[in-house]
Amino acid sequence: MEKIISLCKRRGFVFPGSEIYGGLANTWDYGPLGVELKNNIKQEWWKRFVKDRADMVGLDAALLMNTKTYEASGHLEEFSDPLIECRVCHTRNRADDISDTCPKCGSKDFTDSINFNLMMKTFLGASEDSASAVYFRPETAQGIFVNFKNVLDTTRKKVPFGIAQIGKAFRNEITPGNFIFRTREFEQMEIEYFVKEEDWQKYFKEWQGLMRQWIKDLGIKDEEIEEIDVPAEDRAHYSKKTIDFEYKFPFGQKELYGLAYRTDFDLKNHKLEYVDADGTKYTPHVIEPSLGVDRGFLAVLCSAYHEEQDEKKEGENNTEPRIVLQLPNWLAPYKVAIFPLLKNKPELIDKAKELFEQLKTKYSCDFDDNGNVGKRYRRQDEIGTPYCITIDFDTLEKDTVTVRDRDTMQQETIKLNELESYLEERL
Ligand code: ATP
Repeated sequence: MEKIISLCKRRGFVFPGSEIYGGLANTWDYGPLGVELKNNIKQEWWKRFVKDRADMVGLDAALLMNTKTYEASGHLEEFSDPLIECRVCHTRNRADDISDTCPKCGSKDFTDSINFNLMMKTFLGASEDSASAVYFRPETAQGIFVNFKNVLDTTRKKVPFGIAQIGKAFRNEITPGNFIFRTREFEQMEIEYFVKEEDWQKYFKEWQGLMRQWIKDLGIKDEEIEEIDVPAEDRAHYSKKTIDFEYKFPFGQKELYGLAYRTDFDLKNHKLEYVDADGTKYTPHVIEPSLGVDRGFLAVLCSAYHEEQDEKKEGENNTEPRIVLQLPNWLAPYKVAIFPLLKNKPELIDKAKELFEQLKTKYSCDFDDNGNVGKRYRRQDEIGTPYCITIDFDTLEKDTVTVRDRDTMQQETIKLNELESYLEERL
């Protein structure tokens, strides 16, 4: 984890939040490369599960909602974790998360467990009294449920159909930590998929398969994932069946994503119904694939991170291991990096810039003319750029470039007029 956190800081994936003011515990900011990787995840998810499907629509609801929403949804009453405090060092822990000794001081002397509500409170307007208190949403889902009728009225969707949303959620976690794994502000990609009660198992299975495929496409191997059928006592208050997709993080196997059968719990409590084509009224049941953007981002980095002790290759006199992010191409922040061989040859710089302008309309590209080419390769490997293209004197004389592959480190000479189709085939 230290290596990944350090790479994230060094290369601009993730910075500690409010750093110049000494930080703010467990807040993180996504840097120039991090935001690209995160956007790649969100955009592909949106394309796959909203744009490419006739049975899905999207939504972008407010973070703050009328408190009656959370009375109805049960969150004010039920959305809590068991909290215990160590009587010796006063550290607060999640009772379901620790063994029988305090992780900080080793004491076994704890207070009784209380239910600690995770909803994050703030105040609207000029007075901070109970009348102005509101809660940040703890999941994006409620924004979807309360708009169920609006969406039906405007889109005329028929069951089965789903509503998807990407956005921030807030939880006053008792023990945030492990970098971006557990924070109090995080982002979710959620779908509420509405079905007839008798069909719930069929669609649950279908979404389980789609989530598994999604995880695979993130470059995560089957053996890094375990699907856990969550026992009733550990499920959220609204769920009758939950599968957690657990990932083997460096700090242990933990929940990456969750899939829940929320029954008709939410729509019923919000008093929302559906009328079938033949006029039958009923409350649809809900299958909910819920994906944490930040946890997905972290799992992607953990799976992609490799170190290779391979100092002999590429003429480098370098004993440092080669760090390479073996990201799937679609996730890489830059698809292509363009290098003029030498910094002080204007003809090479001009040619490289010309190529950069041409390719950047299709692919996100980086331009690097700093240091020797071997070092530039290393810099691109570390951020997962699949292809590096070097402009050298042959480019000027023979119209060819050298294309170097991140994973094989093979270099190929490619004709300039064949470069686009070469890249298109591979990217
Ligand atoms: P955990 O048991 O780890 O607290 P949860 O079961 O409460 O998680 P859900 O309510 O199922 O989580 O939330 C759906 C998804 O949102 C999770 O699978 C995870 O990807 C993400 N998520 C939940 N809480 C956090 C958090 N504090 N920080 C980052 N991501 C989170």
